[in-house]
Amino acid sequence: MNFTKSERLQKLPPYLFVELDRKKAEAVSRGVDVIDLGIGDPDMPTPRFIVDRMVQAVQNPAYHRYPSSQGMASFRAAAADWCAQRFGVSLDSETEVVASIGSKEAIANLPLAFIEPGDVVLVPTPGYPVYHIGTLFCGGETFYMPLLAENGFLPDLDSIPGDILRRARIMWLNYPNNPTAATAPDWFFPKVVQFAREHDIIICHDAAYSEMTYDGYKAPSFLETPGAMDVGIEFHSLSKTYNMTGWRIGFTVGNSEVIAALRQAKSNVDSGQFEAVQDAAIAALSSDQSCVEDMRRIYAERRDVLVKGLREIGLDAPSPAATFYVWCPVPKGYTSAEFCARVLEEAGIVTTPGNGFGDPGEGYFRMALTVSAQRMQEAVERLRKIL
Ligand SMILES: *Cc1c(COP(=O)(O)O)cnc(C)c1O
Repeated sequence: MNFTKSERLQKLPPYLFVELDRKKAEAVSRGVDVIDLGIGDPDMPTPRFIVDRMVQAVQNPAYHRYPSSQGMASFRAAAADWCAQRFGVSLDSETEVVASIGSKEAIANLPLAFIEPGDVVLVPTPGYPVYHIGTLFCGGETFYMPLLAENGFLPDLDSIPGDILRRARIMWLNYPNNPTAATAPDWFFPKVVQFAREHDIIICHDAAYSEMTYDGYKAPSFLETPGAMDVGIEFHSLSKTYNMTGWRIGFTVGNSEVIAALRQAKSNVDSGQFEAVQDAAIAALSSDQSCVEDMRRIYAERRDVLVKGLREIGLDAPSPAATFYVWCPVPKGYTSAEFCARVLEEAGIVTTPGNGFGDPGEGYFRMALTVSAQRMQEAVERLRKIL
């Protein structure tokens, strides 16, 4: 047998966290009480009322059959209502909304609908790896747009070369941003809409962190921007907002032609999400959103403990207005990898080296706010001892 892997698998970027995962497993096996600030996965359970709705829904035989790939009409209507209430964006739930099996699924499948070999996809770096991998799987070329601190972690659209722009079909954006925790200032999305029109580029905005915001900040939808519905779509996820990462449910909204193409592509790959999960998601989206407010309060408290502690130790930690990440420069004299390795070995704390998200992330490390405030205080104490 010849089990040679396809070029698309062989071309996958190396998994940069291999060494860190190995060191973490080693520390755990040595009996170290590891504090894991590595992965962006909420530690708190899904709110009770959503679980209760699922318990009910799973008993409905109507939900035991094949779902429709695009999502139940009632789920799409709930998603559209949520967008109207939250952002003032009005959507036709028939043509401008499609369900996803978590937004990762839609993000990975979207390029199937538009990308031919040789087409260029504009991808922010550091960033979520799936934007590049979806491109790679279609034989497209990724052009990386660096997100630099001096630009507020926004891509410098004016610096993208003309020959790239002529071949570019899609631009990925993600605000509030993982991993930098940056938010988009008011002027940015209007500029993006104009740029998309000028260069005929589909804007794909990943809004996974739209609800994870603090200190009164409300993240805008890209689709609120005048003209945005003509040029792009937005990916929403219930994963972070409702502590539902394990449930795999999200939705994509925006331009009806792009949504139709995504729906067509994905209907040939998957058969949609279990309708009981969609039903539970309706409960989440149509609730009074007080569970989201509770979540914000908890993360803000953890953030304050961490940021205050890091600053006392002499680290230059910004306090994020959104996401559940602190994106912090490493102390002088370390690479990201060296610093994260030392913090794990000597303090038993897992953090993520910034370069793991792309080269411009070198010099940073990322901490997720996924442990209790008390545990966060313990992390700070351990760091104080070693630094
Ligand atoms: C967590 C995350 C998502 C959400 O993924 P799901 O598949 O919906 O769980 C999407 N984009 C980014 C940047 C993320 O960090």
